Amino acid sequence: MKYEAVIGLEVHLHLNTRTKAFCGCSTEFGKEPNTQVCPVCLGFPGSLPVYNQAALDYAIKVALALNCRVQEYTKFDRKNYFYPDLPKNYQVSQYDLPLSVHGFLDIELNGQLKRIGITRVHMEEDAGKLIHQENASLVDFNRTGIPLLEIVSEPDINSPEEAYEYLAMLKSTIQYLDVSDCDMEKGSLRCDANISLRPAGTKILGVKTELKNMNSFKGVKDALSYEIRRQAEMLDSGEKLRQDTRLWDAKAQETIAMRTKEGAKDYRYFPEPDLPPFIIKEDKIAEIKKTIPELPKEKMQRFIKDYGLTEYVAKILVASKQGALFAEECLKKTTDKNIKSVANWIIGPLSALTSSTCAIHELNISADNLAGLVDLVENEKIISNLTGKIVLEEMCKTGKTAKAIVEEKNLAQISDSQSLNSIIEEAIKENPKSVADFKAGKANALMFLVGQVMRKSSGKANPKVVQELIRKRLANA
Ligand SMILES: [Zn+2]
Repeated sequence: MKYEAVIGLEVHLHLNTRTKAFCGCSTEFGKEPNTQVCPVCLGFPGSLPVYNQAALDYAIKVALALNCRVQEYTKFDRKNYFYPDLPKNYQVSQYDLPLSVHGFLDIELNGQLKRIGITRVHMEEDAGKLIHQENASLVDFNRTGIPLLEIVSEPDINSPEEAYEYLAMLKSTIQYLDVSDCDMEKGSLRCDANISLRPAGTKILGVKTELKNMNSFKGVKDALSYEIRRQAEMLDSGEKLRQDTRLWDAKAQETIAMRTKEGAKDYRYFPEPDLPPFIIKEDKIAEIKKTIPELPKEKMQRFIKDYGLTEYVAKILVASKQGALFAEECLKKTTDKNIKSVANWIIGPLSALTSSTCAIHELNISADNLAGLVDLVENEKIISNLTGKIVLEEMCKTGKTAKAIVEEKNLAQISDSQSLNSIIEEAIKENPKSVADFKAGKANALMFLVGQVMRKSSGKANPKVVQELIRKRLANA
């Protein structure tokens, strides 16, 4: 690649406080439009905001988890602009003295660790929501004033894949803190991207564009990939890039120019006169620090160390906090010998049974029961892997143990030669050509015969034993 991409991401995050940032209105999602509003969040003259203490605590928690320095003195500012979803004609945000600065988040891609700098995490409030209809645009102010954090990364990201990893790691870390549901579909987590290209190996920054309107991590990745191609083509043909804001159109898979980007001076920031500045004391920071749990990166490293798992497996297991808790319970319930199998059952067959509304820990299966199933497959060889998957599904439906289901449905593997010999005889009689092929030294023919026996036994024959028996039988013939 002739060019290197320089990418910075801006993430907006809803904090899941019960009430809004500056008033007592509920933040509950999905309510009748304009029912969760009051003079403060509607910006009526004479109303006065009071900042939500819980939102400040959550904000500090996120800042600390992202390794930021929380500033002792911080204040709110007004960001002035006109838009129909903004009743006050300004957004309360932070400008020159943000809550926190100089953080970082480590991501891992293809086995390589990379540190992405975080410029700042600051507090602000959300705007309302416009609903466009055929002949009208409606506005819902329920979202107006919901506490937001803006998390701004340094332009340390160099590819769409790194951007994706950063977002996944950020989401996972924040979910561990229990301060946001990070649900992109509900708009609780939104991401804008800045991207420019420069000749590979140089340090000068090119003209950047801002990308908006991506509503999934994949959308961010696709939009960045598109923009890299578009900018590279323009640079190649000697065209001049403009610093503008572009919207991602997921259907057309392209970005469309929206407007030239505003600079900070366009917003005429000034200190919010209705809210006093905050002094954040050391002991407050120390107190909040204590509430931060083990985060995904540390948990992953511990899983690798304590359970001997690979980085790949550990990374999947720790992606969600609840999933990681469940996984660890399972790993503790099993024998040392079965740990890797249990982990593989969790990230494989068990994960396959989850859906967008039902995560691993919400499936009707206990850690004890999963460990029991793996034991039947691995140690006692009572059921095959394939039967194990069928049993697992039944376990999720009924909540019963693997042992009970295997007995009830008579699923145990047939390993005794007496029962297997008659099926083997049948298979040999029906497939003389395969028998001849095997005798002529074709190894595949043996596997074909084993397959026939498996089919005849409805998958219950123990394939290892069958293979041995056929080998012996044909050697004697
Ligand atoms: Zn309100």
